[in-house]
Amino acid sequence: MKTTPIIGLEVHVELKTDTKMFCGCAADHFHVDPNTHTCPVCLGLPGALPVPNQKACEWCIKLGLALGCSINEETFFERKNYFYPDLAKGYQLTQLQKPFAINGKLSIDGHEIRINRVHQEEDTGKSVHMNLDGEDVTLLDFNRSGVPLVEIVSEPDIQSPEQAKKYLNKLQQIIRYVGVSDADIEKGSMRCEPTVNVKIETDDGHTVYTPLVEIKNVASLTGVMNAIEYEINRQIDDFEANGTVKTATNKTTRGWDAEKQQTFLQRDKEGSADYRYFPEPIPPIIFTQDQIEAIRATLPELPDAKIARYQTKFQLSDYDSQVLTDDLNTAKVFESIVASSEDAKFAKFTANIINGPIRTYLNDQQKTIDQLDLNSEYFKETHDAVEKSEISSTVAKQIIVESIETGKSPLEIAKDKNLLQVSDSSAIEELAKKVLADNPKAVEDYKKNPMSIGFLIGQLMKASSGSANPKLAKEILEKLLS
Ligand SMILES: [Zn+2]
Repeated sequence: MKTTPIIGLEVHVELKTDTKMFCGCAADHFHVDPNTHTCPVCLGLPGALPVPNQKACEWCIKLGLALGCSINEETFFERKNYFYPDLAKGYQLTQLQKPFAINGKLSIDGHEIRINRVHQEEDTGKSVHMNLDGEDVTLLDFNRSGVPLVEIVSEPDIQSPEQAKKYLNKLQQIIRYVGVSDADIEKGSMRCEPTVNVKIETDDGHTVYTPLVEIKNVASLTGVMNAIEYEINRQIDDFEANGTVKTATNKTTRGWDAEKQQTFLQRDKEGSADYRYFPEPIPPIIFTQDQIEAIRATLPELPDAKIARYQTKFQLSDYDSQVLTDDLNTAKVFESIVASSEDAKFAKFTANIINGPIRTYLNDQQKTIDQLDLNSEYFKETHDAVEKSEISSTVAKQIIVESIETGKSPLEIAKDKNLLQVSDSSAIEELAKKVLADNPKAVEDYKKNPMSIGFLIGQLMKASSGSANPKLAKEILEKLLS
């Protein structure tokens, strides 16, 4: 029996526009008192007149372009009707027939995931379940009601939980590059609903598909992976136990229980006809080709293009390029430091410092790289000093971090702390003689195995407090030992 998972992802992201999708209320709904960002439009009061948010529409198109989509010049909104207490109007405004963007793609390790559509809609309010004066109640907060939401729907081209995670990571990275949303899964500004079923080819030559399941309530990236993994296994087990699949046309909805690490049946999904979509009487939204091209012109260089450029222009490794371009701010800092030089060695030096000691420093200090005031001159002088063997690369890492903390020049720090490399042979020779005298056993070892000189070099470096030029130290030790 051969099994192939078929996975699609529906992703919602909240746009970080100042105002909501169809009214002038502030869109920020985090850490504000309940029901303070509301008006007749987002409360769905009779007679209210919604006006589409121009910026949100442009951002939806921009994201569509970043994902390689074609853009529909004329679109319109539709009402998706359903009842839920936190849905103020009794319907959600969305785009069914004419999304802003269609037919995009995203490439993961050379495997292409097609994107069906990128469309504009609005968020619902929030139900807050709590115990008030001994009574279990549900309170409604409409601050989130009407916040612009973009839905990105992939084709079911994903074949494993790991690939789903990579897709989400990359999508998140692109959304943040484009700058239209925080795309924070933990905060809920990015939400993900996987759809999962399995193609089963039996040993006797039959091919069957398990029924499609949509998984809800997944609140983290790890949760997405685990939920998909669980669901694939559950469907295969189900097939093996029954030897048949009930029906492949029914799509069911299952919830993810993060505590039990399993999915559970929520409901049989209503067909899309049950939402009774019909057009919203807001006039059609029209973007001319010129306007669409003007939006395209505002796109930043995207991660894949950046990685390719770093590899050709600076001869950086795939790994270094990936880490530097992980977020746009790090890439910007790197580019501003190396802007004055085309030297591949300097680029590699800068990459090592940013990806190594600076990253550790940022983690320790709980800071982001844009909060640092990095001086490209300091990088340059430190790099040149390493090239001239005036300092070791270990010292370079140390003094750059210290210069971030103190604002002082790294080379000044090196001088003050006596970290400049000693290239004075007689001074090193004095130390070397002492090291050999103190370590007779290591000297004996060296006679049997010359490779063991590493230990003596280490001792010499230690004796010089790391300031001896290591190359010179090795030469002098070899000379004395012979
Ligand atoms: Zn409002």
